[in-house]
Amino acid sequence: MIVCANFKANKTRQETQAYMAVVESFVSANDISDTIIVFPPYTALEHLSRNVLIGVQNAYPVRNGAYTGEIALEQLEEFDIKTILIGHSERRHIIGETQEQIAAKFRFFAEQGFVIVYCVGEPLAIREAGHDALMDYIDKQFDGIDLNYSDLIIAYEPVWAIGTGLTPSNSDIEQVHRELRSKTAAPLLYGGSVKTDNAGEIMALENVDGVLVGSAALSANDFCEMIVQASELNG
Ligand code: PEP
Repeated sequence: MIVCANFKANKTRQETQAYMAVVESFVSANDISDTIIVFPPYTALEHLSRNVLIGVQNAYPVRNGAYTGEIALEQLEEFDIKTILIGHSERRHIIGETQEQIAAKFRFFAEQGFVIVYCVGEPLAIREAGHDALMDYIDKQFDGIDLNYSDLIIAYEPVWAIGTGLTPSNSDIEQVHRELRSKTAAPLLYGGSVKTDNAGEIMALENVDGVLVGSAALSANDFCEMIVQASELNG
């Protein structure tokens, strides 16, 4: 299983250090073999971890240069960061990243050999238009994306489920994941209002290989509880 925490614009550097201390010692004390990834804010990046992968929530697809307000490959290399989140719905819908920009970012970081957690997911109006409309929408989010990339992880995150407390039914998650599985061998995560109450049940669904968690992962103890739920599903 793969269990990811996306902090978004939450937590200071100090809070992130305290969080990582809890999660790292939990992972080693409990011999966790699952892949654990934490995406802290840029200001908290450092050589934070030995047994938890640290990724960035975004970066500009260049080595360095005149891109005010961005960070790029050179800044990530300083901290040995080789994992990136691309295509998150907050970047698509709030920041306004286009599929073209997202695909360019994907190509650049794939060429650099990054682990890419690539997010797709539909807004509510598309979900309400039915399953075919939903899958057409997701297909367009794969424009320019190499679904055979070896270090690809896909996260299916319905936009209407992110931070709302709403989740699709288990059978709706399974239906989308079944179709995603027919397109790619990459691990498939579900994200959108996952919490300690539903993480185990969702991870047990067919073709669900883990979860990407926002708000509920801000508590290190709750995140550890979800890691336990993932590890209980092994073997
Ligand atoms: C996310 O931002 O990727 C996410 C899934 O958020 P939340 O868990 O808060 O819905």
